[in-house]
Amino acid sequence: MTQEKTALVLGAGGFIGGHLVKRLKREGYWVRGVDLKFNEFSETAADDFVIGDLRDQSTVRGIIDRRFDEVYQLAADMGGAGYIFTGEHDADIMHNSATINLNVAEAAHKRNIKKVFYSSSACMYPAYNQEDPDNPICSEASAYPAAPDSEYGWEKLFSERLFLAYNRNYGMQNRVARFHNIFGPEGTWQGGKEKAPAAICRKVAMASSGSEIEIWGDGLQTRSFLFVDECVEGVLRLTRSGFEGPVNIGSEEMVTINQLVEIVAEIAGKKIVKKHIPGPTGVRGRNSDNRLIEEKLGWKPSQSLRIGLEQTYEWIERQCRSNSGALAS
Ligand code: NAD
Repeated sequence: MTQEKTALVLGAGGFIGGHLVKRLKREGYWVRGVDLKFNEFSETAADDFVIGDLRDQSTVRGIIDRRFDEVYQLAADMGGAGYIFTGEHDADIMHNSATINLNVAEAAHKRNIKKVFYSSSACMYPAYNQEDPDNPICSEASAYPAAPDSEYGWEKLFSERLFLAYNRNYGMQNRVARFHNIFGPEGTWQGGKEKAPAAICRKVAMASSGSEIEIWGDGLQTRSFLFVDECVEGVLRLTRSGFEGPVNIGSEEMVTINQLVEIVAEIAGKKIVKKHIPGPTGVRGRNSDNRLIEEKLGWKPSQSLRIGLEQTYEWIERQCRSNSGALAS
């Protein structure tokens, strides 16, 4: 009899972690999920779900109580631009996420676990390469000299180095990916921690046709957005490959925020007037560079932004409807 494979998903109560658990279950894994909270939007698919604080060393040691085949470290103190870029949460972001990563790397090593997947972020790329919205540079090798525009990005850079140092010194096979703006159903869509696609879907869903919605900045800043299913696909492919990274997992379909609004309005079938207001916007331009992932894994994300936005809009519109009873049409 072949033994059931086991996976540990840290941050399983979160957006990407929730989707990853479902995928691993579909593949027949026995899955333990860990988070400070249960997922808000769906019942967990994990076989075992531990509510625990990964900042606590003994909690982490207790959770990593066997030699899991795969460990996915997605837990982080995290949020959209409204949380990361105001500066008000810098100490918490750095302290909380670094402590989690230090605890996880050490406990996995002590348990003789070979593979931890770590989710870094495109926010670690230098701000000076992202000033031109038409030509942002986000190739993996452009990371240094380091100059992220947020403490969130600095912590990510530190922690990717941490996991790769365990590879060099202790023969681990940790994997590091840099996610670029992941979106999809069952992600935060209100409250200040939501990202641009979710915020725009919500604003459009709540607006009546012909009315205004507020957009932070001039809307000319560029980004690319990756649908969560393709993100999970990339995570699994990288984890099971012979390449340690760091490697981008993102979409190369770059759009302005204004274009993003237009696509969502079109999906909703509404005429939307954009009202530009001051707000935190981050760097001027960012796009994934997928040359390395294609070279190393023979795969890169390929789904169009519009397809993912259709599914996301439908889900967020349903959330708005059940929250507020009725929506403008
Ligand atoms: P998320 O906030 O939905 O998930 C993170 C989870 O970590 C949350 O459920 C949170 O409760 C949990 N967590 C935080 N502190 C914890 C602690 N002390 N102990 C236990 N659990 C704790 O975020 P997400 O969008 O699913 O992102 C997952 C990972 O991917 C994060 O590391 C994030 O930085 C990274 N990332 C995400 C994106 C994106 O666009 N979503 C982009 C770049 C990087």
